[in-house]
Amino acid sequence: MNILVLNVGSSSLKWQVIDTDEQCFADNTDRRVARGQVERIGGEAVWSFRAGDGESVKGTAPLRDHRAAVEFLLQWLVGPEGGALGSLAEIGAVGHRVVHGGERFVRSVGIDEQVLRGIEETIELAPLHNPANLKGIHAVRAVLGAAVPQVAVFDTAFHHTLPERAFLYAIPYSLYRRHRVRRYGFHGTSHRYVSYRWRQLTGTTREAQRIITLHLGNGCSACAIAGGESLDTSMGFTPLEGLVMGTRSGDVDPAVLDYIAQKEGLSLAEVEMLLNKQSGLLGISGLTNDMRELLAEAREHDDRRARLAIEIFCYRARKYIGSYLAAMGGADALCFAGGIGENAPAVRAMICEGLEFAGIQVDASANAAHVGREGRISPEGARTEVWVIPTDEELLIARDTYRVVHGIETRY
Ligand code: ADP
Repeated sequence: MNILVLNVGSSSLKWQVIDTDEQCFADNTDRRVARGQVERIGGEAVWSFRAGDGESVKGTAPLRDHRAAVEFLLQWLVGPEGGALGSLAEIGAVGHRVVHGGERFVRSVGIDEQVLRGIEETIELAPLHNPANLKGIHAVRAVLGAAVPQVAVFDTAFHHTLPERAFLYAIPYSLYRRHRVRRYGFHGTSHRYVSYRWRQLTGTTREAQRIITLHLGNGCSACAIAGGESLDTSMGFTPLEGLVMGTRSGDVDPAVLDYIAQKEGLSLAEVEMLLNKQSGLLGISGLTNDMRELLAEAREHDDRRARLAIEIFCYRARKYIGSYLAAMGGADALCFAGGIGENAPAVRAMICEGLEFAGIQVDASANAAHVGREGRISPEGARTEVWVIPTDEELLIARDTYRVVHGIETRY
């Protein structure tokens, strides 16, 4: 069945069409029919699409809203240029990445009026993300019609197994009861994929699994996974908590918010924006949020603040690994994913530095050889193996969508 997978942002849209069914689940033969992205929706949008394994084609088009973008990509898919599908009737279902499912959505669900209302009710928890996800759902309904099933796959769902000791903040309990203030965690689909894939690669059962996954992209998070379930994760009430990220600070003392607000004459909302958009690698280096550029600056110009940004990034990740080793009483593997985790051997090596006491080591040549490629990078016989596992959220969204549409139960 062809599944259209959509990841809709406020002014962007990433999509894939994946052909999958139960046979594909068993032998990993899911097929990428086409994929692409649209950016700067709302004005002269920039798009880049690819059918199958063909060349990417790029262009610009005036796309005033998400509906126009969905219409545009679907026309391309069946038109002479894309031609990946004969007609839109070949799309059997649509799977959406939805950032926040609150406490209500603990697994992927078929979208009906009640689910739409549920997603709307979580908007106050994810004001930046859920409205965009909803726009995507409405756009598909308008263009493909209500008969095409749509499924929501939540970024928070995988973390619904967090125990209270991990998800509650040590603040008055009434704030949790009254306003749902707690840690939710994000990137769940990525951690879940890496966890599933590691079990498959190593032939480990769910029950025996005890690993730490690090999703290091523009957003970064760590996850402690035991028995196939998320036991703790570094993002919290919002994606701002935890690791240092491209433009997000990760953990800070909450008392700095008011202090910065007073000193800089900003509102609390503006300070929060500063922690989300102007901090992290960008804030420390004063140069860029892009790890590749920072590594080049550090290497070619020995730029002090670029080096510092990388160092703080790696130190924070190492501290989280240490705390998850403590939370689980050790781990069998540490898995790197995300743009940085998959492609930056230098960062992986620096994060693992000094963790030999915990049986964590990186083999230099294996590390260098695994850029954008799946495999083990620790030496033979290491107590805690280190792996690179390129994430594939779209695949999991497509498979979940298939399962929900066909009423197939799955464990998370
Ligand atoms: P997103 O979280 O937006 O999906 P990605 O997972 O694509 O982002 O990660 C983007 C990050 O990955 C950027 O910081 C980018 O510099 C980094 N990255 C991508 N390729 C490399 C590379 N070869 N070396 C170092 N960093 C890289």
